[in-house]
Parts: sequence; C-alpha cells; structure tokens
Amino acid sequence: MNVLVIGLTGGIGSGKTEVSNRFAQHGVPVIDTDQLARELVEPGQPALLEIVTAFGPDCLDERGQLRRDQLRERVFADPSGRRRLEAILHPRIRTLLQARIANITAPYCVAVIPLLIETGMIDLVDRILVVDVSEAEQIRRVLARDGITETQAHRILAAQTQRQERLACADDILENGADFSRLHQQVAALHERYLALASIKAS
Ligand code: ATP
Repeated sequence: MNVLVIGLTGGIGSGKTEVSNRFAQHGVPVIDTDQLARELVEPGQPALLEIVTAFGPDCLDERGQLRRDQLRERVFADPSGRRRLEAILHPRIRTLLQARIANITAPYCVAVIPLLIETGMIDLVDRILVVDVSEAEQIRRVLARDGITETQAHRILAAQTQRQERLACADDILENGADFSRLHQQVAALHERYLALASIKAS
C-alpha cells in the first residue's frame, strides 16, 4: 500500500469540509470518517444493533433510523455513555477507513478525521494537516451555519482537543482565517507538495 494518506483535522467549523471539497476538485480522493460513521449505523448494520442494545430502542426513529442528534446530545452529558458509543464505533470506523484506503489508486488521498488526535488514528495517516482558525471565528461560523446557541458552540469546543495541542501534532497547517480565495491558494500549494511527496513515497 503506497498511497500517501493525509489526515485532515481541525475543530468544529474550522473549514474541514470546505478544504476537503477543494482537494476533491483537484481530483484527490477524499474519505470522510463522518460519512463512514453514518454508513456504519444504517439499519441492518451490526453497530446499530449494538447501539440499540446499549442505549435502548428510544434511540431509533419510527423508520428504524438512528436519531443521531439525540444520541449525540445524550452522550455529551454522560461520559460513560460516550465511551460506550465510541467503543462501538471507533474500531469499526478504523477498519472501514483502512479498507477504503487500501482501494485507492491515486497517488495520495485525504482522510477527513475530525477526532484524529483524540481517537488515536494517527498511525493510519502519513501526514497531519490541521485546518486552523481562531476560536472566535470558529464560533462565528458555526453559529451562522448551524443556528445553534453560543452556549452549545462553546460546549462543543470545550469537548474537543485544544487548539494548541492539535497544532502541535500538525505537519502542515492551513490557516483559514481569511477568505475562500486564500483557502483555495493554500490547497493548491499543498496539492503540489503532496503530489511531490507521494512520488517520493512510491519510488
Ligand atoms: P464541522 O466540524 O462542523 O464538520 P467543518 O470543519 O467541516 O465543520 P466547514 O463546514 O467547512 O467546517 O466550515 C464551517 C462554516 O464556515 C461553513 O459555513 C463554511 O462555508 C464557512 N467557511 C469555511 N471556510 C471559510 C472561509 N475561509 N471564509 C468564510 N467562510 C468559511
């Protein structure tokens, strides 16, 4: 397996989706672990059965789909529930991510892993790209996008790896405090760099 794997991470609302979409526009395969988590809890999946066994049938809606928002709220207030949910999901996300990486034929891919540092998936990636913005800007963008309260935004931020800790793990940092054109310029530069690194890795 010679594909170069870039682990893309950053706090809530830092711009991971915008950055990964831009890499995709350069033709780079993107694997989004949030999407993998969604696939893993579709009706009929073993992880869903385990979640229902652990958290009760109330976590399903009338169509048998997981009430993701409700469960997220619930485990936020309950650290042991949170650990139980992570114990069900994280190993499966890891296995699925490895399988998706193994199928890639491009020189490099971007794996979007919001909790890259927290979940110990660092060993699956060759480089860590952190999208960074100030916490004030993070809160502003999340409030504008999600319509949540400022208290909720602060609570989510508090539960995530601290910004400095994340930056300390970074091989590359995309500073996303400016506009979209600056974001696009930085992705273009990183793309050239990753192609060069991928060709070294493959040789
Ligand atoms: P989450 O952690 O919640 O999944 P995210 O890290 O994927 O968030 P995005 O959804 O990409 O973040 O960005 C958050 C919001 O900020 C979006 O509405 C996005 O359009 C906006 N945004 C991202 N980058 C910029 C930028 N450089 N200038 C202005 N707005 C931006």
